Amino acid sequence: MESFTITNLTEERYSRHHLIDWWDQTKLKNARVLVAGVGALGNEVLKNLALLGIGHVTLIDFDTVSVTNLTRSVLFRESDIGLAKVEAARQRGIEINPELSIHTIQGDLQFDLGIGNVRSHDVIIGCLDSVNARWAINQLAYRAGIPWINGGIGVTEGEVSFFDPRSESACFECSLSSQTWERRNQRYSCHGMKRDVPEKMMPTTAPIASIIAAMQVHQALVYLHNKTSFLNSGEKVFLSLNPWASFKAKIQHQESCTTHNFSVDSIIRLPFKSELSAQAICQNLQQLGFQNPVISLRNEVVTVMQCLDSNCNHFEQINYPLRQLAESALVCPKCGKERDFEVIRSFSISQHPDINLVNLCLPGNEILFGESDGRSFAIEFY
Ligand SMILES: [Zn+2]
Ligand SMILES: [Zn+2]
Repeated sequence: MESFTITNLTEERYSRHHLIDWWDQTKLKNARVLVAGVGALGNEVLKNLALLGIGHVTLIDFDTVSVTNLTRSVLFRESDIGLAKVEAARQRGIEINPELSIHTIQGDLQFDLGIGNVRSHDVIIGCLDSVNARWAINQLAYRAGIPWINGGIGVTEGEVSFFDPRSESACFECSLSSQTWERRNQRYSCHGMKRDVPEKMMPTTAPIASIIAAMQVHQALVYLHNKTSFLNSGEKVFLSLNPWASFKAKIQHQESCTTHNFSVDSIIRLPFKSELSAQAICQNLQQLGFQNPVISLRNEVVTVMQCLDSNCNHFEQINYPLRQLAESALVCPKCGKERDFEVIRSFSISQHPDINLVNLCLPGNEILFGESDGRSFAIEFY
């Protein structure tokens, strides 16, 4: 009797949706959407996904709720200040629609999100405020083969773009000018370590966040229903509220861009063991006919650091992602002089054969990519 009542309630909840001839509520219930970033856009996106009855949502954000978020983030309350954004948003999402399953990751999308995790979704909605984070999600999306919807907002203008790895069109990286690349690279030292530059605060307001997020969710909705009426892959729509204007543009495909040309010839599955060495992985590949496998890392890893002062020679085993390491790590903790370091960008039978999986700092469910004599492969762990 009770389940009968719940079924009726669910039916009734979505009864207005059922009046739309192309609507498929079951499709939405089974959909898996990854929301990258839970700021102003992410809040609005999750609110809409919950109202629509999207069944499975993953939220990723490293940040906590602060008082300045409360002018634009519909899901946050004063009592949430200090809480992880993903957790506060999860609680409110469930309040809006208890049928939702919301998985949260409090972390950095470049370092804490494995490609295998990304691949378990149907679509990614990017609610990010930096070029660097968008670049990272673009890489993840193209390696995972999952389309993503990018949103960006100013005070009275915003844009939405759509990138589908299965199409021949431009990707987000194609849209970056050399000046934007330069700005992105200023965040890293010449060694590739993180510079301590404060994030620039961008002015924005709730109305534009609300409109752009709604457009992103509409694009997701259209995509999940296999409709092609809003944005095609490699297109963006720009919207201005003052003066009112809107136009659609095709993003130019860049020949030099390596991200969208990503392809894999074979998929190899190996059991995950943290002590598995680079050499053992390469030998496995050789047995499968890949004679000279070279596996590239998405995130370079610093293995050891050594003081350059011959009287000190302080040596430290680090095993930490290069781009997460602060520039200050170059200073020897013992004598204050400069240190040198060893970084792993790829491995093979002859290059770093002794390093094991755990020291490669891979996010959970990561997929590794490599090539051997012109043939590309992916290594999935189980
Ligand atoms: Zn591209
Ligand atoms: Zn030293």
